[in-house]
Amino acid sequence: MDFKGKTVIVTGAGKGIGREIVRMLAERGAQVVALTRSAADVEALRVEPGCRAIQVDLADADATREAVIAALPADFLINCAGTTELQPFLETTVEAFDRLVAVNTRAPMIVAQEYARSLIKDGRKGAIVNVSSVASFVGIPDHAAYCASKGGLDGLTRVMAKELAPHGIRTNGVHPTVTLTPMAVKAWSDPEKAAGMMKRIPVGRFAEPADIAEVVLFLLSDEAAMVNGISMPVDGGYMIA
Ligand code: NDP
Repeated sequence: MDFKGKTVIVTGAGKGIGREIVRMLAERGAQVVALTRSAADVEALRVEPGCRAIQVDLADADATREAVIAALPADFLINCAGTTELQPFLETTVEAFDRLVAVNTRAPMIVAQEYARSLIKDGRKGAIVNVSSVASFVGIPDHAAYCASKGGLDGLTRVMAKELAPHGIRTNGVHPTVTLTPMAVKAWSDPEKAAGMMKRIPVGRFAEPADIAEVVLFLLSDEAAMVNGISMPVDGGYMIA
């Protein structure tokens, strides 16, 4: 998969899976426009060769639209940014629910709207990957808002796949299991919970960011030209009944 001469927008590029995607894309010749929040990550990305970084809080709809417009034009889009907050269902707050939906569901919509409008205006083709989660398929205790936000993202993926494909823009979803990133530290540091999750993964390990990044890049590439609208688990078999 050669991305020479291609520009790719990556949200949530500062840490974890997004950071690994940036590394892999740079290795394969792409120019990256990174959209992320923490100032330290923005500074670190700015010194990477071939990488432009824009600081934005994706929970802010207007700022998100401004940031993506500043990032355009681009050949491909990866909506990778995501956030979580652990709360039992009965204690899930409206504030946390709204924040997770804003970042995990609404921001990918806004970013994809501007990206797709720009391609359609210029008569160019493209591809989008939305990074979802196995949490959109399975009810995970303490993850009500997160599961709901990722389920919403999957709904968007399917509609985008239908509406944008006639314009030459494919959209697919990637669904990681627990992946060893700062988010996993937040969500899975309880050894008992982690062991229960691990037991359900037949390959016997959690994912590394590179496991997810490879699949994301495949779905963007021309090798996946007939793949549109899928939800691809990258879960070591967790989803097998
Ligand atoms: P990390 O928490 O390690 O990294 C998330 C990245 O997204 C960070 O750079 C973070 O920036 C950025 N981000 C989060 N909120 C915002 C915001 N409001 N505005 C701008 N940027 C933001 O997460 P992962 O790499 O683990 O997760 C990447 C994706 O994969 C997410 O969509 C996640 O839901 C999904 N996923 C992860 C799994 C896992 O176990 N790790 C499992 C399944 C799915 P900052 O730190 O500055 O806020």
